[in-house]
Amino acid sequence: MSDKDEPKNPIEEFQRHLQQMMRSGNIPFFTPQSGVSPSSAPKRGEAAEGEEDKHETALRRIREFNLRPREIRDHLDRFVIRQDEAKKVLSVAICDHYNHVRQCLEKPELREKDYAKQNVLLLGPTGVGKTYLMRNIARLIGVPFVKADATKFSETGYVGGDVEDLVRDLVRTAEGDTELAQYGIIYIDEIDKIAGAAGLQGRDVSGRGVQTNLLKLLEETDVNLHSQTDLLGQMQAAMEMQRGGRPRPRTMNTRHILFIVSGAFDKLAEQVRRRVEKSQVGFAHPGRRLEDDTDALALVQTTDLVQYGFEPEFVGRLPVRVACHSLKPDDLEKILLTSEGSVLTQYRSDFAGYGIDFTIEPAALRRVAEIAYAEGTGARGLMTVLERLFRDFKFELPSTAIRAFTITREMIDDPRAQVRTLLRANSEAQREVLRGEIAEFSRRFHRDHGFDLEFADDALTALVDESLARDKTIRGLCEEKFRDFHHGLKLVARNSGSTKFTINAAVIQNPEKELSRWVVASYRPPEEPAAPTPQ
Ligand code: ADP
Repeated sequence: MSDKDEPKNPIEEFQRHLQQMMRSGNIPFFTPQSGVSPSSAPKRGEAAEGEEDKHETALRRIREFNLRPREIRDHLDRFVIRQDEAKKVLSVAICDHYNHVRQCLEKPELREKDYAKQNVLLLGPTGVGKTYLMRNIARLIGVPFVKADATKFSETGYVGGDVEDLVRDLVRTAEGDTELAQYGIIYIDEIDKIAGAAGLQGRDVSGRGVQTNLLKLLEETDVNLHSQTDLLGQMQAAMEMQRGGRPRPRTMNTRHILFIVSGAFDKLAEQVRRRVEKSQVGFAHPGRRLEDDTDALALVQTTDLVQYGFEPEFVGRLPVRVACHSLKPDDLEKILLTSEGSVLTQYRSDFAGYGIDFTIEPAALRRVAEIAYAEGTGARGLMTVLERLFRDFKFELPSTAIRAFTITREMIDDPRAQVRTLLRANSEAQREVLRGEIAEFSRRFHRDHGFDLEFADDALTALVDESLARDKTIRGLCEEKFRDFHHGLKLVARNSGSTKFTINAAVIQNPEKELSRWVVASYRPPEEPAAPTPQ
């Protein structure tokens, strides 16, 4: 088979077709004739006003960047517990970076001058706030933020992803605003997993390939915003152009993107410890003792990272390095008590959604922190423990009259039993709640079908009893019993003219049977006594 008649790759075919359409402006999607009407489509340059404002505000904040490192640190203190060194180092790096960006915007000629970007390497165990620090910083400055795991990239980009996808993701996060995206923050986690074969990881060489690709991004490169493999992106861009949106640039430079890479580097701590101990042999003063891994990681040098399997050039592009500490039970307790973004705050607002409030006793908080610590996943352990603790409360309480509860230390070990006790204590009030739900069902039935169902007292009792015995909501129970009821009622109404029906315990017991009786009775001549229930 000659090259010429070889079957064509359908993706390439489609792309070529799309490019031709874009060039000719003849795009069959959303043309004024076929889709968006000319009046409703925004005209070129007339992007939705709100969008424009958002875009301008975000850019103005960067142009006028004037935060000081201590201000950033103070902001972080509201959310992130401990990690003081990381807060300090990041605050300085962020201020330097965005001051430089601002200066470049003021004096474009500065762009040509050499500038060593403050890309950061964050070391430390999982769940201790590395990402959280950066997310809060990005939110404070108002720049887009994306996070990805280094392990998802492959050297070629064919399997897994291409490192340049990160830049395209940044543009997507900025809702297509490339001007803003170029000042965004890219966070790459699990960087320790792409240390090359020569390192301790014993991995294949593709890690080195990914490092080389990342190196270009960290440094400065123009990234094609219309990736070869991103058909959706290409189509969106084409459609936007057609709708008169701002034409998107085809490439974006990574000069002003700040990169943060992070990893647990657990094996590296051991390596550093050995190096430090060796260097201390023979000294009169034994130097500092390395209590835990973070102490060791804080002493990481370029040589350690190179020995670990990173290319010297790659490490060289990460001049700012700082280690985050593992979190102890005290820290976890403090997160629950004081962090503005603590997961406990989230639970409070979840319960508030149902009008429920809760108190958690100090001893209970302590217990949560201790169990979370034992999970060994940093602050993520708190989420696991609290989810387990609140699961039954969240499931049961919204359907009850309970509007407040207290979590005690004892509850933590067996929350389910505590919920049961709470429900038992509340059982009388609960019957009232269920009766109210029956009235609610009756209102819905009237709205949907136009018939009035009047529940007699014995029917209310029977329904409430059944709801409690079968652990089923009134809504579920009524929908099950009265699912096709309105069809029969229509017949009865046609024959008898009545639209009001009394539901008694017999109907609850066997709705189908009673309904059939009503229907049959409604066909009888009027002089014969009809079934007593329909009115
Ligand atoms: P990692 O260090 O693995 O990047 P994250 O920053 O993603 O961990 O932490 C997960 C979650 O745990 C955060 O969203 C935050 O709610 C909480 N968290 C972690 N560390 C801290 C901390 N030091 N102070 C307050 N909350 C924290």
